Parts: sequence; structure tokens; C-alpha cells
Amino acid sequence: MSVKFTVMGSLNMDFVLSVPRLPQEGETLLAQNFSTFPGGKGANQAVALARLGGQVNMIGAVGDDDLGNNLLRNLEQEQIDTTGVQCLADTPTGNAFITVDQQGKNTILVYPGANGELKTSWVPQHKELIQNSEYLLMQLETPLEVVEATAELADSLGTKVILNPAPGQELSQNLLKRVHLLTPNETELSVISGMTTETREEQIAAARHLTDLGVDQVVVTLGSEGAFHVDKNMGQQGTHGHHNTHCNHGTRGTYGTRGTHGTQDSQNPQEATFVDSFSVKAVDTTAAGDSFTAALAIALGQGQSIENALKYASAVAAITVTKEGAQSSLPYSHQVDTFLK
Ligand code: ADP
Repeated sequence: MSVKFTVMGSLNMDFVLSVPRLPQEGETLLAQNFSTFPGGKGANQAVALARLGGQVNMIGAVGDDDLGNNLLRNLEQEQIDTTGVQCLADTPTGNAFITVDQQGKNTILVYPGANGELKTSWVPQHKELIQNSEYLLMQLETPLEVVEATAELADSLGTKVILNPAPGQELSQNLLKRVHLLTPNETELSVISGMTTETREEQIAAARHLTDLGVDQVVVTLGSEGAFHVDKNMGQQGTHGHHNTHCNHGTRGTYGTRGTHGTQDSQNPQEATFVDSFSVKAVDTTAAGDSFTAALAIALGQGQSIENALKYASAVAAITVTKEGAQSSLPYSHQVDTFLK
């Protein structure tokens, strides 16, 4: 039986411009291509889960306009239950303006629109959806107080909370202590922990600080350098000890080649479990973090070990970065199986 998920988060229409390079302040550049794609971190994660075999309910809001209708239809085509998505009059559907350069690097501007209008008073009406789900996935493109209220409800119902804390912002301990799995990238890790995260030791210390604050598990994504996992129950040195890490991190491109990919460092399992990224040609890294989080949730929901779940999530994210767009780049489970063969 497939695992049940509720995703509470944003639904956006993405307007994507391909540019020769990212523009400087005050500079006007001619874009080489323009496309629109359904996006929003919430909807992306919902679609990623559904394509990987999850049973998904979406909670969110769109405007009562063409963009909103398109987004709802799109989710329904992905077999996602949208009864938890409100359609708001007089509020535009959320949208995002994304520039992608030839190396696949991007900049993203988001206008929240209806996503920003979600209210804490609406949370209790979704009790049944959340109660019937094994996991609740959230991000930070909806008001923080709604994220917190939804996490409180899920926690009280025994539904595990997965938070992909993007875009990064400071989080209360009340929220953190309700999070079963937190999946920041390097920048978000620094913002949330309030610590410097330039070296691997600093990153592990920051992740450990978050487990000390009550998060059960933290998986930090490091772009092409892979990801690592720390668990509340391992390496109880807290943030005060010296982190004697032996991770085999290298410079970009020197590892993660096919054949050695998916390996994790186990020399010091007390500290962190590492996974390399797969070596692929990145075309557009939009939704890499979304697909990674969703894939991790699927694998953990299936009862896989953290090592296997990290490898699976890395494979899903690697496929995602080889294609343009957000949802258009998210793979189906059979494509991941072929990639991993
Ligand atoms: P975000 O998109 O949230 O900033 P990251 O950039 O850390 O997240 O990417 C998430 C995951 O996607 C990484 O841990 C890695 O597995 C995968 N990934 C990202 N960039 C690449 C790349 N260039 N090649 C292969 N995998 C990548």
C-alpha cells in the first residue's frame, strides 16, 4: 500500500527566463527563452511525492483566476486530492519569476499572492486529512504562523512533520521541536541555526544544534556536493564538543562519479551520514531541494534505512537537475529505478 502524505504549502505559476548569465544590479539582459510552468514548493513536493508513488492531499490556496484554475487542474492530473486547496476571490494566484543561466544556476523572485493569505483559523478544518496521513510535508512559502499551527496539529495527532525550511528564515523552538525531519540547504541551515556554515565541521555543528533544539533528524543538502544526515539519537556531543569529522568531501566534480555514487562515509557514523551527489550534467537546479525532500519522505515512509533513503533522494534530485523547469523535471518512480540500475 502506498504511503499517505498531506502537503501544506504554496502553489505558484512559474515564469521562467533562460538567460546567458544572471543579471547584475541595474543591468538589462535579453533572455533567450521564456516558458511558464506550474510550481511553488508545496505543489512541487506534492507532485514529486505522487510521481514516486505516494498518495497525496494538498492543503493551500490559489486565487479565483485562470492561473489558479490551471494549477488545480494540473494537480488533479497528477492524482493529487485538492479538496484542501481554497480558491480565494480578489487575491491573485501566487507566482514566481525565475532566471536560469547556462550553467543551471538560478535566481527566484516569488510573489506569494493567495499563498500569503492562508490563515491559522483554517488549520483545524484539515484535521481529518492530516490525521489520516503518515507524514505532513511543509515548506516556508506560506505564513509562518500557519506552518507552526499545522505542525502543532499534526504533532498532536501523531502525524510526522517533515519541514523543508525554504526560503530560509528564523524558526521558533516551538516549531522545531515538532519537526521529525528538517531538510535545509547550506544557506537555510545557517539562517535557522544562527551559526556559520562554511566548513563541513561548522555545518555538522549547526545541524546538531538543531537536533539539540528538538528536531529528530536533519538532512542538509549541499548541492552538487551531496547531503548529510544527523539524528538526535546519535553522537550526543551537542554543539559544544569538537566535531572530529572524517567526511570524504572533495571539491566539486571530483567525486560522485557514476560507479562510486551514492556512497556514504561511515568512518564516523556517530557524527553524520554522508551521501555524494550523482554526477550529472545540471541544466536547471530548480526543484532539486523539493524533489530531494519528497524522495526522502517516500523512502523513509517505505521503511528504508537512512543510507538507502539518502541515495534514493540523491538519485531523484539528480534526475531533476538534468531537466528544465520545476514540476516538468520531477521523475516518476520507474525512471528512478532505471537510473539506479
Ligand atoms: P536546494 O535546491 O534546496 O538549494 P540543493 O542545491 O542543496 O538544494 O540540492 C538538493 C540536492 O539535489 C542535493 O543534495 C543533490 O543531491 C542534488 N543536486 C543539486 N545540484 C546537483 C548537481 N549539480 N548534480 C547532481 N545533483 C545535484
